[in-house]
Amino acid sequence: MSKPNVVIIGGGFGGLQCARSLSGTPTEVLLLDKNNYHLFTPLLYQVASSLLNPSDIAYPIRTVFRRTRNVRFMMAEVAGVNFKTKTVRLIDGTEKSYDYLVIAAGSETNFFGLESVGRMACGLKDLPEALALRNHILRCFEAAAQETSEELRQTYLTFIVVGGGPTGVEYAGALSELVRLVLAYDYPEIGLEKIRIILIEAMPELFPTFPSQLGHEARKRLERLGVTAQCNTKVQEVTDNLIKFSNGESIVARTLVWAAGVKPAGLASTLDAACSRSGRIEVDEFLRVRGQTHVFAIGDIASFTEGGREIPMIASPAIQEARQAAANIMRSIANQPLEPFHYRDPGMMATIGRNSAVVHIKNLSLKGFIGWIAWLFVHLYFLIGFRNRIAVLSGWAWNYLRYDRPIRLIARAGERD
Ligand SMILES: Cc1cc2nc3c(=O)[nH]c(=O)nc-3n(C[C@H](O)[C@H](O)[C@H](O)COP(=O)(O)OP(=O)(O)OC[C@H]3O[C@@H](n4cnc5c(N)ncnc54)[C@H](O)[C@@H]3O)c2cc1C
Repeated sequence: MSKPNVVIIGGGFGGLQCARSLSGTPTEVLLLDKNNYHLFTPLLYQVASSLLNPSDIAYPIRTVFRRTRNVRFMMAEVAGVNFKTKTVRLIDGTEKSYDYLVIAAGSETNFFGLESVGRMACGLKDLPEALALRNHILRCFEAAAQETSEELRQTYLTFIVVGGGPTGVEYAGALSELVRLVLAYDYPEIGLEKIRIILIEAMPELFPTFPSQLGHEARKRLERLGVTAQCNTKVQEVTDNLIKFSNGESIVARTLVWAAGVKPAGLASTLDAACSRSGRIEVDEFLRVRGQTHVFAIGDIASFTEGGREIPMIASPAIQEARQAAANIMRSIANQPLEPFHYRDPGMMATIGRNSAVVHIKNLSLKGFIGWIAWLFVHLYFLIGFRNRIAVLSGWAWNYLRYDRPIRLIARAGERD
């Protein structure tokens, strides 16, 4: 008898874990991703701030499954799924059939309908965006150094970061260190006092979904790094380089970094499946897409509710759901009853510059140096690949000892057809 074939869309946190959980089982697994690498997003901001190389936080998916007989990888973008014919349609028009399907296509940046912002802002969601942001910041300094008009020079030296969650806070802190510890010495003609970094958050405090002392702590740490945190403020519109806010104020700046939210990947809206208000695919307690017995959805793209609330779009639920979806596929193949999924909240952590982090795990809150050490070890532990761990650790050690951000290259990417 041929083995049931499982197609997984997406090789991110959820899809990769699902394929790993199915490795060595009597199934044939085909993992599809539009990129040929798995990206460790929690350290993406360190690529954007010249500390790490892309290869330190991205890992080729084929290498992960080199020794796994029943898992194959194909770099391909999925355009749609036909639940009736049990086929996945790729962007080149070819089709792949499945017995079981796992949808783990993640999410994309959400500009909340602000078109002008979408056009001007730098995203921080994937590797090309992180590299584009790194190039942009370095170009701003080159341009500022050559600009003779004080007024124009200031526009290059004003950096607006939007989003007071972990990504925005971490990036604002890292940008400040890049600017103050390194670029200030590379560009002695630019006065440090001219540089402005402003973090904008729509809610009354930073880290709005966590206990308020974490938000206060983050604000204090950022202020020490020279970052101004402005809460209760929304970006409304951008015209040329004029950024307008909901409180009537506006700032002229060439840099607007958008870390204010994500929405489910575009694939969700193409499917014949019920979606929640946030656009995520609704799943039942076994993580099956509603109305489907052989299709599962996990991670950012899936809407799993517990206690009346959707579980958050972060890595931990994606990994936990992946394990449960794989187990339920095996149970279904063996004609056993499926097991419901329960989410275990691991807490949150974010670093704010050197020697400083906030950590909140159950009732335990850590901050400062101890929090920072905890943050370092947790991130190293979850990175994939021994080489990547060594590369990241040595990058951090170099930065710690030398106060350096060595990857200050304005590198243009080129691709042949
Ligand atoms: C900058 C940043 C920092 C973050 N920091 C943290 C953090 O510190 N802690 C934390 O818990 N979470 C963090 N997150 C959130 C975390 O990355 C996501 O919640 C997690 O990646 C979700 O896993 P996933 O498998 O659902 O999606 P992803 O990991 O995003 O994987 C989706 C995969 O699907 C692929 N894909 C998408 N569409 C298609 C298609 N049509 N065809 C083929 N392939 C497709 C993508 O290429 C991608 O590889 C961060 C996110 C970002 C952007």
